[in-house]
Amino acid sequence: MALIVQKYGGTSVADVARINAVADRVVKTHEQGHEVVVVVSAMAGETDRLIQLAKQITDRPNERELDQLVATGEQVSIALLAMAIEQRGHQARSFLAHQVRIRTDSNFSRASILSIDASSILDRLGERKIAVVAGFQGIDDEGNITTLGRGGSDTTAVAVAAALHADVCEIYTDVNGVYTTDPNVCPTARKLKRISHDEMLELASLGAKVLHIRSVAFAKKFGVPLHVRSSFSDEEGTWVVPEEKEMESAPITGVTYAKNEMRLRVLGVPDTPTATRDLVAPLAGAGLHIDVMVQSASVDGFFDLAFTVPKDEALQARELIEHAADELGAVGVESEGPVAKVSVVGVGIRTHTQAPGKVFETLARENIPIQMIAFSEIRLSVIIDENHLNTAVNALHQAFGLDSSAGGEAGCETV
Ligand code: ADP
Ligand code: ASP
Ligand code: MG
Repeated sequence: MALIVQKYGGTSVADVARINAVADRVVKTHEQGHEVVVVVSAMAGETDRLIQLAKQITDRPNERELDQLVATGEQVSIALLAMAIEQRGHQARSFLAHQVRIRTDSNFSRASILSIDASSILDRLGERKIAVVAGFQGIDDEGNITTLGRGGSDTTAVAVAAALHADVCEIYTDVNGVYTTDPNVCPTARKLKRISHDEMLELASLGAKVLHIRSVAFAKKFGVPLHVRSSFSDEEGTWVVPEEKEMESAPITGVTYAKNEMRLRVLGVPDTPTATRDLVAPLAGAGLHIDVMVQSASVDGFFDLAFTVPKDEALQARELIEHAADELGAVGVESEGPVAKVSVVGVGIRTHTQAPGKVFETLARENIPIQMIAFSEIRLSVIIDENHLNTAVNALHQAFGLDSSAGGEAGCETV
C-alpha cells in the first residue's frame, strides 16, 4: 500500500464528464489499496474568467481582494470531485487551504508556502476517506486567503506530498509528460523519460508551464518522487529525478520560451558599489520575476542596467525602478517590448563547450538578431524580437538533434 498524491490540472477537470473521469481514476487507485490525496485546480478557463471580471472593474485590483476572488475557482472543483467520488461508493472529504492550514507569507498572487499541518488529512486517510485538497491557495498569519501564482496547484500538490511523506506525487495534465519543447507548438518534440530537478527548474522558470517552478524546488528539497503524466491515458510519463551521470552525454535536454516579456533599461546610473543593489532590491523584495540582467561597463562614472520582466509585472517593476533610479540620480528608465526569451537547457551545457556557439550560429543562419544573452551553468537564454520566436524555437530544436523524426523537417507550428 502506498500513499499517493494525485494532482489534476484545469483541463483535466474542465467539465462534469472530465470530473467523472478523474473520479474513476482516483477510485481505481483507492481500490488497489492505496491511500489517495487529490489536489485539483479550478476548471479550465475559470481563473482567467475571474481575473477578467476584476479587470472590468479596475486595471489594478486590490491584491488581497483579487486573491479572495480567484481562489474561489478551486472551491468549486474540489466539491464537485468529492461528490463524484462519493457517487462511486467511496468516502471523500474536500479541504480548502485554511482547513489544512496551508500557511503562506502575505505576498498576494505569488505567495510562498511556509508550512502545512498534515494532521487533518492523515485523520481522514485513517478513516479510509479520500482527501481532496484545493490547489493554488493558502492562508497567511492574519487569516487572509493568498494564492501561489498561476499554475500554483502543482506546488500545493508537491508540498502536500512532502508534508505527508507520500510515496509519489503524480501530476496529471493534458500532455503525456515533459517534452524536449512544448508539444503543442512542435509536433516533433520528444517525450523525456526522466529529467533532472535542476533541468526542470530551469525549464519551468524559463516558460515551460508544464510544472510550476516552486513545485520542482519542493520536490528536490524534500526528495518527493514526481511523475508528470496524462490524465487521458495510462501511459508512463516523465519522472523528475536527481541528476544522473549519463544525462551529461546530451548537449541539451530541451528548448523553452517565454513570450510577453518586457525589457527595462535604467540609463546613466552614477557608479557606486551599492548602486546595483539599491536598484534591484525593491524588485526582488516585491517578488518580481526579473531575469536576463546586463550591466554595462562604467563610462565616466555612469553605467546602464537592463533586465527583463514578465509583461504583467512590468508596470509594477517600472514604478519601483523609477523610484530607485530617481533616488540614485540616474538619467531615466525606458521600457521596450514585448520581447521573447528563448532558452536551451541541459546539464550537458557544462561539458559541451560548443553549445553556446551552436546557438549563436543557428540564430545567425536564420538572421535573428540577439538583443541580450544570459548564461547559467545549465542554460543559455537569448532575448529576441517576438516575431522571430517560432523560427528560433524550431531551428534550435532541430540544430540540437531533439526532433523525434531524425533528419526530418521540424514542422513546428506558430508559437
Ligand atoms: P494543467 O492545467 O494540467 O496544469 P498546464 O497548461 O499548466 O496544465 O501545463 C501543461 C502545458 O504545458 C501543455 O499543454 C503544454 O502546452 C505546456 N508545455 C510547455 N512546455 C512544455 C514541455 N517542455 N513539455 C510538456 N508540456 C509543455
Ligand atoms: N487555477 C490556477 C491557475 O489557473 C492554478 C492552477 O491551475 O494550477 O493558474
Ligand atoms: Mg499547470
